[in-house]
Amino acid sequence: MAPNEWERRIARAEELGAQYGFAAEILRLYVSIARFQEDFYRDLGSLYGNSLDHLSAGAGDAASNWESFSRPFPAELTARFGTFLSMIEPSGPSPLREAARELRDGGQDSHFRLLTAFWNGSGTGVLPPEPADFFARAFLQPYAAWIRTRSNMSWSGPTPYLCPFCKRKPVVGILRPLGDGGQRSLVCSFCLAEWEFRRIVCPGCGEENHAKLPVYTAEELKHVRVEACDSCRSYIKTVDLTKSGLAEPIVDEMASIPLDLWAEQQGYSKLQPNLMQL
Ligand SMILES: [Zn+2]
Ligand SMILES: [Zn+2]
Repeated sequence: MAPNEWERRIARAEELGAQYGFAAEILRLYVSIARFQEDFYRDLGSLYGNSLDHLSAGAGDAASNWESFSRPFPAELTARFGTFLSMIEPSGPSPLREAARELRDGGQDSHFRLLTAFWNGSGTGVLPPEPADFFARAFLQPYAAWIRTRSNMSWSGPTPYLCPFCKRKPVVGILRPLGDGGQRSLVCSFCLAEWEFRRIVCPGCGEENHAKLPVYTAEELKHVRVEACDSCRSYIKTVDLTKSGLAEPIVDEMASIPLDLWAEQQGYSKLQPNLMQL
């Protein structure tokens, strides 16, 4: 993943923030986070080069995708978390500001514990998200993306419900032009991997009955669809690149807040909250 992926997301967030008043505040916060993430990702390259030798090896098969993610989070990166919290503090809404201040006051040992817990798999969606998870996810995301791109991971096989690399849930779907229709893929909520996923299958429970998988769109946001499931009552939004080639799925998903409000009114719950915990 090149740093310019973050630049594209930042540009798109600025564009949509100006266009959609309802998403302006969220996207402003996202832009600050993404700028931090871009710098962090670039610095990881300068710090470690292209290898993963700095990571103490975990047990297991070196060829497995999960193995790189099962190595401990390096303690030396913890100091940067304080910098991240200080950066978020002034730009976030007030509950977030308080949570950031509280975390910052906790000191480096507690930061390391939080980051390690998240890295090891809390925040996988089993428990309800806590405010601390927001900071841990946003901070660790570039590190996760960096680990994934440096470890030559590959994946083949049937469409997995969790990220084939870091085992987190998908946060958004993408439809990419393919022939006369679109090929669906899913994007990981943590390491941002994208993997192909069958089009008519619920990524929450595996439902394949077309009649139980309604799709909703709204007039103002034609390129974002709510893909719901009447079996498990979950939904995920999918960004349709056949309708808008300029979309940046992560950002367009965040910006389409009215679709979330609507889906929740219909009694669906989101498969995985996004980076902003919406
Ligand atoms: Zn992942
Ligand atoms: Zn389902």
